[in-house]
Amino acid sequence: MKITKIDVFYVDDKEAPSIHPVLCRVYTDTGLYGDGEAAMSYGVGAKAAFGMVQDLANIVVGMDPLENEIIWDKMYRTTFWGQNGGGVFTAGMSAIDIALWDIKGKFFNVPIYTLLGGKLNDNLRTYASQIQFGWKNMMGAMFTIDDYVGAANRALADGYDAIKGDFFTFKETPSEGGFSDKERTTILTSKNLKLVVNRVAAVREAVGPDVDIIIENHSFLDVNTAIQLAEALKPYNIMYFEEPNTPDPHTAERLANHIDIPIASGERIYTRWQYEKYFATNSLQVAQPDMGTCGGFTEVKKVCDLAYIHDVSIQIHACGSPISTAASLQMEAAIPNFVIHEHHQCNMVHSHIKLCKYDYQPVNGKFKVPDLPGLGQELSDFVLNDRENVVKVTVDGSASTWTMS
Ligand code: MG
Repeated sequence: MKITKIDVFYVDDKEAPSIHPVLCRVYTDTGLYGDGEAAMSYGVGAKAAFGMVQDLANIVVGMDPLENEIIWDKMYRTTFWGQNGGGVFTAGMSAIDIALWDIKGKFFNVPIYTLLGGKLNDNLRTYASQIQFGWKNMMGAMFTIDDYVGAANRALADGYDAIKGDFFTFKETPSEGGFSDKERTTILTSKNLKLVVNRVAAVREAVGPDVDIIIENHSFLDVNTAIQLAEALKPYNIMYFEEPNTPDPHTAERLANHIDIPIASGERIYTRWQYEKYFATNSLQVAQPDMGTCGGFTEVKKVCDLAYIHDVSIQIHACGSPISTAASLQMEAAIPNFVIHEHHQCNMVHSHIKLCKYDYQPVNGKFKVPDLPGLGQELSDFVLNDRENVVKVTVDGSASTWTMS
């Protein structure tokens, strides 16, 4: 079997102008195809990821899609910038690798979790992620205590027994907007610290003692303020504290020595080489590799195995399109150190759901793993055919590209 061409998609949808999913479809000479994603739709970097997938696609056309290790190694080691590459590079690798595993599953007529060793976990425990956006089918912003309690109660009404919020994203009133980067670093003012703690306290009281609360922080605090916040949140039985500060092995070690709450990080940590530095010093208790940025199935499975020998749990970071969600479910089904699945509020929004053929959603806080061959998900007609809202580039391997032999 040979890869014949790769279509790369950049979604520029009028319905959701601030996000730009980057997706791909890898075609073969057998008629089998596979879909993947470079999960950088938000923030800054989607256009770079779009170009990255094209550059890598050009060097893998003509190769056997079943040889994922050989292809991964070629992308990593013969491209000069692949080794120790950053998020854009590994996101490009991830898109192609996910598509290769989709093809492999279809070729052997099994779900990917079977290729990874079997369905160890099904009906995955799932948490409602980012309740500061309201937990509705459109993205909003929560300001008052009542806003937070309302969002948490909506998640509970949907059947979840675990929720996550960044209680620091928005200030007290809509006119104040959000917190600046400077307001989260150095030393927190009493007023700001109290605002966050009061929100968490109110949510804890509303949901009761049996619901797990995860604190999201999007890396905006620094070591000092993260320790301040963790100390203040001690009475509220926090499941884990996600991205307390900018991911860095040295500051992570200091934090781990000062914080009693388990620490999670990973959406900005890529490949086993970077994870190993955190595992070696026991700086993480929950690793959160993203299928669409960490290097795809081929790499994330290795990160999960490495985590396992250090007693580190895995919660795959899942904030991409439904392609990323399907990839996450397939991986989480097959690993022994799975802890919980992330269901981001964006997964409930129409502009997101329409990117793929199937609309899988958790039921009562549990997510069934797709049992179709491969990923169990595929790109929709909207992505494949709507040239008004989706840019498509076809790569056939004919471009001249510099690689080491
Ligand atoms: Mg996060």
